[in-house]
Amino acid sequence: MSARPDPDAPTDAPQRPRAAVLSVGSELLLGDLTDTNATWLSRRLTEHGVEVVHHLAVGDDLDRLVAALRWLADGVELVVIGGGLGPTADDLTREAVAAAVGVELDHHPELEEDIAARFAAMGRRMPAQNARQARIPRGAVPLPPVGTAPGFHLVMDNPRRTRLAALPGVPWELHALFDAGVVPVLGELTGGGVTLTRILHVVGRGESDVAEGVEPLLEGVDGAEDAVLSFLAKGHEIQVRLTLSGPDRDAVLAASEPLVEQVRGALDGAVAGVDDEDLETVVLRLLRERGATLATAESATAGDIAARLGRVPGASATLAGGVVAYTARAKREALGLPASLLDEHGTVSEATARALARAVQQRFGVDHALAVTGVAGPSSLEGLPVGSCFWALAHPDGEVEVHGRRIPGDRRQVIARLGSAALDLLRIRLAAT
Ligand code: ATP
Repeated sequence: MSARPDPDAPTDAPQRPRAAVLSVGSELLLGDLTDTNATWLSRRLTEHGVEVVHHLAVGDDLDRLVAALRWLADGVELVVIGGGLGPTADDLTREAVAAAVGVELDHHPELEEDIAARFAAMGRRMPAQNARQARIPRGAVPLPPVGTAPGFHLVMDNPRRTRLAALPGVPWELHALFDAGVVPVLGELTGGGVTLTRILHVVGRGESDVAEGVEPLLEGVDGAEDAVLSFLAKGHEIQVRLTLSGPDRDAVLAASEPLVEQVRGALDGAVAGVDDEDLETVVLRLLRERGATLATAESATAGDIAARLGRVPGASATLAGGVVAYTARAKREALGLPASLLDEHGTVSEATARALARAVQQRFGVDHALAVTGVAGPSSLEGLPVGSCFWALAHPDGEVEVHGRRIPGDRRQVIARLGSAALDLLRIRLAAT
């Protein structure tokens, strides 16, 4: 199992071409905007076998942009720039690239016509200042606009022959121009080949616990030395990620399969699904395959379980509905729980979770019902500490099984993990039938 290569290590011939993503715009530095363009570009470049070694965000400042471009171009074969191609005076990417490369800006009449045509299609006349967008560095190949901002790419006259590609900041325009203008030149850099990340979705385990279980097991497994192993803690799951490269998609998939199976075996049933099949998707598939239906009664998670299921296409085939019964009154009035039960056991209790599951199963006439109740925090409730949770599963024969434990984390994590615990219980029981 290899660690990621040191991006600064001296090397004459990098195994994979290296890229940097430069995001332009002061709003990125003010905390007003999350740089989703850099994330998207990294994913796409990685898929194409390019190693992304830097993300950099720079404000609308010519000197800083030129300095950043020179520094990045010194260490990578490709710099993808997102943003700063608009028509206003603070859109400086064109000027910065020209200065960094040491060329003039040339006006391209055909680009101005393209931009004018885009405005005409919207029933508007092109404002005079948009003509600036038709000026690109000398020697650059223009990328015609899909919105109103054209992009461009060029090869620098430096030892690495670094390619610079400038794309608009508007995400859908950046995506379209990347596919149309950058993807075709990637093959020249990489000589073809793909890199894939296989993702195993692990539920109910901590990150270090997962890492301890997986790392030693992969040592010595065929193909493992070419894979990069990483772990990513998301709110409701741990992702074990295996990144491998190869000549084409099928070859990489075949090489990764023994590793995926090894990890799955090591984690002993805690892998809910692989790649696009996350926990919710697997649960819905298992229900669908069995022609079974589900309803939820949610206290602490306030509808999060139903919402997670509802985001999966086709959920309506199996998810009948759900009730958010947050307060004791809602539990009584929406689901008919007896006041005496709540008084005696408390709203966060095994008995309440059981009664919620049974009640929602009957109300919706479904095969399975999930119910959750707990103390999400930040304050304790009814004398119970933060994280005290119960989850219940009503089976088709009316039996209800209830589990409870203290779930660690802040409010957001408790909600996510409680939902996953309930869904995972259903997954395990369905898989066994
Ligand atoms: P362009 O190069 O297309 O003119 P720009 O850099 O001038 O773009 P803005 O006008 O500041 O971009 O932003 C246009 C839109 O693009 C905004 O909705 C903004 O949210 C979005 N955007 C810009 N940069 C990014 C980024 N790095 N990640 C995500 N969204 C972005």
